[in-house]
Amino acid sequence: MKIYSYKDLSESKIKELCSRQIEDDKLVEERVTSIIESVKNDGDKALFNFAKTFDQINLQKLFLDAEELKTIALTIPVVAKEAIETAYQNIKTFHQSQLKTEDKVETMPGVICWRESRAIEKVGLYIPGGTAVLPSTFLMLATPAIIAGCKEIIVCSPPQSDGKTNCYLAYCAVLLGIEKIYLIGGAQAVAAMAFGTESVPQVYKIFGPGNRYVTTAKTRVQNKVAIDMPAGPSEVLVIADETANPSFVAADLLAQAEHGTDSQAILVSTSKEFITQALLEIENQLSILPRKEIAAKAIANSYAILVDDLTMAMEFSNEYAPEHLILATENFEKLIPMIINAGSVFLGNLTPESAGDYASGTNHTLPTSGFAKAYSGVSTDAFLKKITFQHLSDNGLNNIGATVETLAAAEGLQAHKNAITIRVGSQKSGVRR
Ligand code: NAD
Repeated sequence: MKIYSYKDLSESKIKELCSRQIEDDKLVEERVTSIIESVKNDGDKALFNFAKTFDQINLQKLFLDAEELKTIALTIPVVAKEAIETAYQNIKTFHQSQLKTEDKVETMPGVICWRESRAIEKVGLYIPGGTAVLPSTFLMLATPAIIAGCKEIIVCSPPQSDGKTNCYLAYCAVLLGIEKIYLIGGAQAVAAMAFGTESVPQVYKIFGPGNRYVTTAKTRVQNKVAIDMPAGPSEVLVIADETANPSFVAADLLAQAEHGTDSQAILVSTSKEFITQALLEIENQLSILPRKEIAAKAIANSYAILVDDLTMAMEFSNEYAPEHLILATENFEKLIPMIINAGSVFLGNLTPESAGDYASGTNHTLPTSGFAKAYSGVSTDAFLKKITFQHLSDNGLNNIGATVETLAAAEGLQAHKNAITIRVGSQKSGVRR
């Protein structure tokens, strides 16, 4: 891991450090384009073929039904079942609190406006399952979808080596009342949900993280469906002062690094000594990780930055716009108002990112690659549309009429003006209104 001194960095170097290096983009783009075309043209047949090519599985059918899921779910260890249930309750509680009714507003006498939420009827959830199967992502996506009231929830996840899904995903499905899991991974899953096939229903919005094939496909199908957000490899930025614990910080950086070789784990600290200690700790902890090869590559692509003070640290963090921001500092409350760009924030020495990844209640599907500058993470809101309503009374029509007529005339839209004039006239003549 390279160490930089912030005050010695040029503007262009800061930009370079904040840009996520993504290699072989062209190759991925070409492959994804061809996968999407195949699914569009050949439907289920293409999906069976891609399962063979990319997942090395000869599928007999493309989904597991409720009975099959129940049977697989029976094999889950009790302790895992209980952990899933605890996480689910916390995620449910937090996401339920996001359902809000808005007040009606009288913008001028007799003119009443308001907004109401309606669930997106058909949504598609992608649950990654290439290098690791993620039941946590299943909970994070399906729970708010159910709370929002989505009628049709399509779930896709790559088939595992036995051609099925694992007991954790199956148990989540049973717990959530999801009756089918489609055994489809990668760009082909995104294409199937965007365009529909004989077996997979078309949806209106696609959610979920995934590898480059998945995320490239999501950006490619945006002219057909909505997506939660563009996404890239996972990342964390830890701001630590001299009061932080180097072992804790090293564990957090490695937790991020083990996601994938292209994950980024950035350390920003006010103390050179702390950086040295944290890097030593990373070496110690890395050597015993089962995914050490992956984590080591990610750490090699990551870096540490020495800053003069926490204001400087926040300045860099806002420019980087991390998916996860950990404030391992004594007075983290003081830094909260300075946070402008971040997906999700973890406060204090006892709050690891893992808590939010799995069970505290906040959502772990978050904007990466600097998109935290403009996007929020997944929430109940992401499964809702807001519809505006308005009603004019007699008084309201009189009060707003002249304003609308004048603006319509100014824009040369006579029919718009008439829509007011004809109604105001009817008030005077007493015709049916
Ligand atoms: P995945 O499910 O995203 O991808 C697996 C699928 O990719 C396979 O089923 C296959 O169909 C396809 N694939 C594999 N190699 C291919 C190739 N050469 N050509 C075309 N398609 C190919 O699972 P994964 O690979 O383990 O990736 C999961 C990703 O999700 C990780 O990068 C992780 O960091 C990310 N993630 C992000 C968040 C977040 O909130 N941002 C949360 C969880 C996971």
